[in-house]
Amino acid sequence: MSVSEFEIINRYFASRAVADEHIVLGIGDDAAVVSMPADQQLVVSIDTLISGVHFPVQTSAADIAWKALAVNLSDLAAMGAKPAWFTLALSLPEVKHNWLAAFSESLADISSIYQIPLVGGDTTRGPLSITIQVAGYVASGQALLRSGAKVGDQIFLSGSIGDAALGLHLLQQQSDSPAETDYLSRDLIRRLNRPQPRIELGQALSGIASACIDISDGLFADLSHILKASAVGARLQQAQIPLSEAAQQFLTDNPSLRSSIYNRGDDYELCFCVAAEKCGQLEAIAKEHYCSLSHIGEIISGDDLQLFDAQNNRLDYDHDSYDHFMVKHE
Ligand code: ADP
Ligand code: MG
Repeated sequence: MSVSEFEIINRYFASRAVADEHIVLGIGDDAAVVSMPADQQLVVSIDTLISGVHFPVQTSAADIAWKALAVNLSDLAAMGAKPAWFTLALSLPEVKHNWLAAFSESLADISSIYQIPLVGGDTTRGPLSITIQVAGYVASGQALLRSGAKVGDQIFLSGSIGDAALGLHLLQQQSDSPAETDYLSRDLIRRLNRPQPRIELGQALSGIASACIDISDGLFADLSHILKASAVGARLQQAQIPLSEAAQQFLTDNPSLRSSIYNRGDDYELCFCVAAEKCGQLEAIAKEHYCSLSHIGEIISGDDLQLFDAQNNRLDYDHDSYDHFMVKHE
């Protein structure tokens, strides 16, 4: 490398760090020092994004940075936590200033939008990979868990799902140049590359949702985690599962991709359960956070996920979802 590791850190990361009252000492020493607000607990999560695994190799530096922090913020959202700070471990095959400038600028953008400062990290040479660790605060005992769903709770989903899976499909079809030629494709690909973590919604659900998870592996797989942790089953109404206009339009021409909507796709919406007597509070939350909340089903006893059509016929569905250690050769 023609520049040192320290120059990279100073030029691209330390200089862009956002100030925050709880950060006593940020980037530059052997470690960061942070203080805790009174009566709060720390919620901690980490996610790695590897080139060619978590994003197509042609993904832009700006999109990679956005997604790396967004997927971590989504885990905080699912816990009902307020963003506190994050660290970044970056492995780079080579120093490319254009790439680093675009990456660090986009990272600074999303970190300022969600008010989460970068407090430290590690920079190494190796295959392109980005690991981000996030920390958030919740009032003591108030974190939203997967394990609280009860029989009779209603199941809700924020926003819409499916766009990210279809966006990935589009990119895989056209490996050389991104398929951003028409509006429909552009919207779907943007949803894949620029997920919007439901941070405010997650915090608003604290004290209301009995269980919550973010959709990172597909709706059925992620809801199944709630069912397992809570030892319950669920009935879902397929017709009520919200798809975006772009996804609906795309599926009209490509009906065979429908199962990928439910079993794939990092949409980063929140799926959560609410006791019947608290459901009345959701309308105000949806309005305040400009976020649609769809009622998609109900928690039942048992341990399986049942899917029904509008005429109440039980539907069969594909149980397969993405697993890094069980990659199938299709
Ligand atoms: P050490 O050898 O003590 O681990 P480093 O050289 O790895 O120190 O890091 C020096 C300082 O720069 C530390 O404060 C570290 O947290 C920070 N740092 C290193 N890489 C990054 C990065 N990619 N983003 C943000 N901070 C970083
Ligand atoms: Mg280090």
